[in-house]
Amino acid sequence: MRRPLMAGNWKMHKNIPEAIAMVKELKPLISDVKDVDILICPVFTAIYPLSNEAKGSNIKIGAQNVYWEPKGAFTGEIAVSMLSDAGCSFVIIGHSERRQYFCETDETVNKRTKATLNANLIPIVCVGETLQERESDNTFKVIEKQVRDGIKNFSKEEAEKIVIAYEPVWAIGTGKTATPQQAQEVHGFIRKIYSEMYGSDIANKVRILYGGSVKPDNVSELMKQKDIDGGLVGGASLDAASFAKLVKFNG
Ligand code: PEP
Repeated sequence: MRRPLMAGNWKMHKNIPEAIAMVKELKPLISDVKDVDILICPVFTAIYPLSNEAKGSNIKIGAQNVYWEPKGAFTGEIAVSMLSDAGCSFVIIGHSERRQYFCETDETVNKRTKATLNANLIPIVCVGETLQERESDNTFKVIEKQVRDGIKNFSKEEAEKIVIAYEPVWAIGTGKTATPQQAQEVHGFIRKIYSEMYGSDIANKVRILYGGSVKPDNVSELMKQKDIDGGLVGGASLDAASFAKLVKFNG
């Protein structure tokens, strides 16, 4: 019922020639995939050339961040219309690295999400607990706050378009994956909170991705969980053969 989405977050990796070479290699490997949305989020400078390279294929291009103002004296920032102009259809918002290193808060996540939806792009809103928060039994409290505050005050139509990514911080880039059961437990919880916020009809339609050391050898078990609708993948999305295996998670 929910269309899976496999999204590659390239973080600060790959210059323009490297990005183009990877998409050239990826295209024939996944050209037969019809039932999964495939997304690559490169660095800003590679967005335009990659969206040209991906034209006519089943690969969509997204950004890793956006600012909420439409234009103005905001040195170093980028507006949603500029991302759209360059060929983006998705934006990752509130990734834990942005929360940790760049002072991202639930309030700024909310503003970026609003601006993204207003420009008809799809936000991927990231939530996730740190190891310390998990070990002190605060996972659900932390996730609930991030969802309620970061994704508040939207209409049902807007809420339905949002993609949520559950990314336990302790599993990102560490090689430690949440077990499928641990991930499902939190995904089910997020859907329940979303249902309280926007109604069960919307909660049942919203896509919730898992992120945190997703690899070709663990993707299919994760994707079998009923509330896991795709992946937000860092390291394993940087290699064409590996990303193609993730996209083809069901064989
Ligand atoms: C990420 O970048 O969001 C991520 C989950 O990274 P990795 O897959 O490398 O853990």
